[in-house]
Amino acid sequence: MKINENYNNLTESYLFSTIAQKHGAYKAAHPDKKVISLGIGDVTLPLAPAVTLAMEKAVAEMGVKATFRGYGDSQGYAFLREAVCGYYARKGVEISENDVFVSDGAKSDLGNILDIFDGGNTVLIPDPVYPAYVDANVMAGRRIIYTQGSEGNNFLPMPGGEKADIIYLCSPNNPTGAVYTREQLGEWVTYARKHGAIILFDSAYEAFVGGDDLPTSIYEIDGARECAIEFCSLSKTAGFTGTRCGYTIVPFETGLRNMWLRRQSTKFNGVPYIIQRGAEAVFTPEGQEQIKENIDYYMENAHTIARGLSKAGVWYVGGQNSPYIWMKIEDEVIKKSDYKSEGTSWAFFDFLLENAQIVGTPGVGFGKMGEGYFRLSSFGDRDDVIEAMDRMCKIL
Ligand code: PLP
Repeated sequence: MKINENYNNLTESYLFSTIAQKHGAYKAAHPDKKVISLGIGDVTLPLAPAVTLAMEKAVAEMGVKATFRGYGDSQGYAFLREAVCGYYARKGVEISENDVFVSDGAKSDLGNILDIFDGGNTVLIPDPVYPAYVDANVMAGRRIIYTQGSEGNNFLPMPGGEKADIIYLCSPNNPTGAVYTREQLGEWVTYARKHGAIILFDSAYEAFVGGDDLPTSIYEIDGARECAIEFCSLSKTAGFTGTRCGYTIVPFETGLRNMWLRRQSTKFNGVPYIIQRGAEAVFTPEGQEQIKENIDYYMENAHTIARGLSKAGVWYVGGQNSPYIWMKIEDEVIKKSDYKSEGTSWAFFDFLLENAQIVGTPGVGFGKMGEGYFRLSSFGDRDDVIEAMDRMCKIL
């Protein structure tokens, strides 16, 4: 037996464990102080009533012989795939039910999709990035090249440079909160078609786009059906982080649909019926109204954070159509402090924790280009967010 040596090439991530350890140590040393986390990457509001009701009904069905269900279609029940198509249709995007693959969340499919591509492909990944794209490709031994996000491009890197075969894009972005415009996505689609590349479009935060005429699906762009696979998730949009359900769109025009179907029917046996009934309820008018209330709550938090940073004169992206805000750490802030942690992002983490009792996420944890930046999340409690921004404005 030989192990997959590529696993030896993974870089250990100490991001969240180091945050937890520093947070814990501070709390232990200062039990009287209230620490507020703006680092939360999970939702905090519960499932919508329409969703839990649908699940309860499905549970009851499973206990009755006449309505019991065993194995389902590994691609997902028709009722949920139809509901997904209806959701797209309301956005003006025509999707066939055969192109919809119900998943147990976007993370699995974003990595599993690599099964259908040759190991010799070069993969283009933006930096900073949601780390799972990198690790899944390192495990598969693929060559990775990076496209750099920076203040200059508002953390929205554009095509250029070395040719890639597989391109990961995420919009609205985690960690930066930046959102591509229709024109910018159009450039990526043109690039992919020119080079025969495939775009793996992570749309996990599409429901947070609230206006500004920004695209919520890559299929709003002409030609994208031939060169893009879209990964969607109910995790952040409808509170399914623990419940697990998402959907992936593999258009027939990519020429990859049958391969993915074959892969899924071989290695995946579908999402539980009860969960799919809950997911179906998300797309009903009632479900949509209820999840919108939660999204609006998080977005009001995001606006509070963004307003605070603007008031403090800090450069940032995100927070407008995204639950994440990506702030720049100004040199003066670091000079004010004598924090010893290596690098600006971690020095700022210490500074914020010790002077304002706020926890956030150091940008460097998402890639080299994240050094000097910091991610704030809006998934917390409203009063805590308001208090945190009051405290932060006083020290920035
Ligand atoms: N993609 C991005 C950009 C994310 O931030 C996350 C979760 O944080 C995921 C995918 C994973 O989503 P899921 O819970 O559906 O697996």
